[in-house]
Amino acid sequence: MPAQIAVFTARSDNFGYLVHDRETGRTAAIDAPEEKAILDALAAHGWTLSDILVTHHHGDHTEAIGPLKARFGARVVGPRGEADKIEGLDELVSGGDRISVGALSFEVIDVPGHTLGHIAYHAPEEKALFSGDALFSLGVGRMFEGTPEPMWAGLKRLKALDPQTAVYCGHEYTLANAKFALSVDPSNESLIARAEEAKGQIESGLPTIPARLGDEIAANPFLRADTEALAGRMGLQGADPVEVFGALRRAKDQF
Ligand code: ZN
Ligand code: FE
Repeated sequence: MPAQIAVFTARSDNFGYLVHDRETGRTAAIDAPEEKAILDALAAHGWTLSDILVTHHHGDHTEAIGPLKARFGARVVGPRGEADKIEGLDELVSGGDRISVGALSFEVIDVPGHTLGHIAYHAPEEKALFSGDALFSLGVGRMFEGTPEPMWAGLKRLKALDPQTAVYCGHEYTLANAKFALSVDPSNESLIARAEEAKGQIESGLPTIPARLGDEIAANPFLRADTEALAGRMGLQGADPVEVFGALRRAKDQF
């Protein structure tokens, strides 16, 4: 029985997600950006919160852990590498670990770079990836901690997943990301199509999420750091993809 996934807006541009297991009734929040937004989404579906799966330590992903835990007694799962930075964690996980929410199974993938201990939650049976601030549609998170090499390695792990996987990321940044992406990869037909699609979605008041991983691999310049096209555009023909990725990340910071 597939999971039911609720997508909603929290704070200003965060996405909130609830993943509900129809079999056991358990419901997990992916991150805890805002108590009220999560309570409203739970009430709208008649669900009770049982788990919180945390991707990284930033306040816009952890702020509501305390109040939600107090209200529901929810189990809180989070990154082992950031255990000292997040309050209220019950279970620590890192890349390669598996956790269950009722009958739903998630594998944990290390995606360092935005923060050093950042993790993503992949539900293979649901073909769903919760990428936090590691991977956005048409972009990646700002590299606050660490270096391009491990960040690129983490993105390669995501690239290797089933291209049909639906990507649920931490923020609605798609249109701003599209502007930068088009500036470095202007003749990419997949990118042009995805940017158009996202524009239409926003104009209709819809989220641009989930994005299909296969579309992101074709359109997101940061996932294309290993292509000749992007190396060429960055003036780095024949360079290691890590170098191209680093150059892209720096260019986006200054865009
Ligand atoms: Zn963040
Ligand atoms: Fe964030």
